[in-house]
Amino acid sequence: MKKILLYILLSLSVFSYAQEKKFKVILDAGHGGKDPGAQKNGCIEKLIALDVVLRIGKILEAYPEFDIKYTRTTDVFIPLKDRAKMANDFEADLFVSVHCNSSVSPKPYGAMTLVMGLSRAGMNFEIAKAENAVISLEENYKEKYEGFDPNNPNTQIGLRIMQEETLMQSIDFASSVQSYFKNSLQRKDLGMHQQPLWVLDATVMPGVLIELGFLSNLEESRYMKSEEGKSNYSQIIARSIIEYKNNLKGTNTIPNTLDIKEPIIIEPEVVVVTSDSSTVANSTTIEAVPAGSGYKVQISFSAKKLELIPENFNGLNNITVAEINGGYKYYYGEGSMEICKKLLAEAKLKGYKSAFIVESK
Ligand SMILES: [Zn+2]
Repeated sequence: MKKILLYILLSLSVFSYAQEKKFKVILDAGHGGKDPGAQKNGCIEKLIALDVVLRIGKILEAYPEFDIKYTRTTDVFIPLKDRAKMANDFEADLFVSVHCNSSVSPKPYGAMTLVMGLSRAGMNFEIAKAENAVISLEENYKEKYEGFDPNNPNTQIGLRIMQEETLMQSIDFASSVQSYFKNSLQRKDLGMHQQPLWVLDATVMPGVLIELGFLSNLEESRYMKSEEGKSNYSQIIARSIIEYKNNLKGTNTIPNTLDIKEPIIIEPEVVVVTSDSSTVANSTTIEAVPAGSGYKVQISFSAKKLELIPENFNGLNNITVAEINGGYKYYYGEGSMEICKKLLAEAKLKGYKSAFIVESK
């Protein structure tokens, strides 16, 4: 509790100090020990969450500007309120909790992130206030906390402002994670949600809870359990954390290049529709891409089927689509690696920042 206060005082009064100190991230693997979380298709949530969290930490620990702490590094049970307390005691700059989703139906799949619920936006403030009120019972508290008075309305306003800022920062981070899930990992984007969650509400720093995917969906559970899946998830989350820190601190830590492999998904027949043939309204010609014709640039993956017109693709022409597992991969152009590098640069300029080159089969 003392540390929460010191954190608040430091961030309010000694701003420059905050820029020099390490960026503290607390990584929280959901569940653990007697609480396994979701168990479906031979997967146990607590184990996947821990595996992914340890990988995220390993990536970030390579950067000296990060200070990483874990709520657990083994399969142990930790009550929610202890997780929040650990984050607060650590004076973390960001709280990242990793979970897996599950549903009674095997159908739903996709990734989502949760941030603190708006409906209880005053929650942290109340907790912080209640915690701080105890200070006045401590000996010499006036000297210890340099005149900090938990009952002073100005102090409370300070807490409330931080509250709103942390929510906005949480939303920033969550939307970055979602966009990576969607564009780089080609996961179905279930979006960012605001939901009251004790573990998030009780932390005083920006925090998100990431649901990697649905263990109840066979294909997604296979992906989550696979080496590639876990490696991809952790790289994406680590990268989002680095970028979040860079944006916040105005520094520029260069993230490792992503080593993302195509998701292991049992793909049904791939149907390629070319935009060139869409001149006839509502009629699309289905044709196979000639084998060995080289490469193409994947610009996005979407659950929605879009008409292949430039207006739908930030002005890009020559878009093709492949239908995979009920989702649609959109590609820009096709040709040799050299041509595709140019196309890739063009696509990025048009706003497809996570576009990448794939072999055209
Ligand atoms: Zn969970």
